[in-house]
Amino acid sequence: MTQFQLIKKSKKSCARLSLLKTSHGNIEGPFFMPIATRGAIKNLTPEEMKTLKSQIILSNTYHLMLRPGTKVIKKAKGLHKFMNWNGPILTDSGGFQAYSLGSAKRKTQNAKLNLNDQKFKSLLEKGDWGIFKKENPLNPPYRGDNNIKFSEEGIEFYSEVDGKKIFLSPEKAMEIQMILGSDIIMVLDQCIALPCDYKKTKQAMELTTRWAKRSQEYFSQKKEKDQKLFCIVQGGTYKRLRLQSAKDLAKIDFDGYAIGGLAVGEPRKKMLEVLDYTVSILPENKSRYLMGVGKPEEIIEAVKRGIDMFDCVIPTRNARHGTLYKFKMQNAKCKIKEEDFYEIIRITNAKFEFDLQPIDLNCSCYTCQNYSRAYLRHLFMTNESLGFRLATIHNLAFYLRLMEEIRKGIRDNNF
Ligand SMILES: [Zn+2]
Repeated sequence: MTQFQLIKKSKKSCARLSLLKTSHGNIEGPFFMPIATRGAIKNLTPEEMKTLKSQIILSNTYHLMLRPGTKVIKKAKGLHKFMNWNGPILTDSGGFQAYSLGSAKRKTQNAKLNLNDQKFKSLLEKGDWGIFKKENPLNPPYRGDNNIKFSEEGIEFYSEVDGKKIFLSPEKAMEIQMILGSDIIMVLDQCIALPCDYKKTKQAMELTTRWAKRSQEYFSQKKEKDQKLFCIVQGGTYKRLRLQSAKDLAKIDFDGYAIGGLAVGEPRKKMLEVLDYTVSILPENKSRYLMGVGKPEEIIEAVKRGIDMFDCVIPTRNARHGTLYKFKMQNAKCKIKEEDFYEIIRITNAKFEFDLQPIDLNCSCYTCQNYSRAYLRHLFMTNESLGFRLATIHNLAFYLRLMEEIRKGIRDNNF
């Protein structure tokens, strides 16, 4: 069975229509993966995700390995059964979170407290955040690398849950994702913060390539069921390094090629430039995935450059902050080809107090079919969790419709 099928290439851009086959269903590309960090889309059930026609979800290896841990998920016979989602799942390798969250130990040590410590908890209840330099330790925004060690073997870091030391090797990342039963498994990579000098970027990129080889070897020996392995192209914003990374990885047979280390604060122009030269040397008959992107207009620009897959926290996270998306329409059609094709609604704005229209009259989602802006605003003003749910449903409906419109555009030679 051919796992990836290129259905159509646009004549106007490098955009492509594709079909990725998995044992939990086929996925039409370009597609977007809503994020279920800890095995749950925040505020929604998997049944609701089905109603929204989400083709696939993304879950995080790092968070699942800490809680509930692989033993529980193994007993449940995999993540699909554990969370009651029978569609495809992609899991990341844990590399990015180990890098961004793995400094928990320094923080807990500094405070001479443990996250489960009673004294610590009562300080929190009193609202005393001073011990953590005004950072919220239950949702650590802290990023640092003093307690994360990258070696040839793997990554050593500290659990954000209890501060325990954890070691993640490329093989271990494979093993965990195989237990999770992910349809798409990502290799472990070394993430770097941008800007980063050439030498460090080169070292991280070369280590990522060596890890990718090790991952592929382990994966091909141990693979039991229909699972796919994707590698990650690194190299920061250095053309030479990106090309080297893509070339080296293309020599190894992966099911898909991700582009990592972008959308981490670099100017958008720079990101698109990297895509322009990187995508052109990736194998044509394999999936291409731009990790962590993005805003609607970034997705459109990346699709035009030949990307098939996206993931981002934006629709779900913004929903919880009352930031909602709405298409601008022209003759009852979304005008995604134009620059200002959507608008943002901040639902807590006073102007919506008496507004009894739905968020978007042209949206067929459950929220827009049943609830008004005024009611949604009221839910947000009173901090009712139903507000987060309804806003999440709408924002995901917007993103999934955006992808549908893009696919339609490619199919109709308009994109
Ligand atoms: Zn809606």
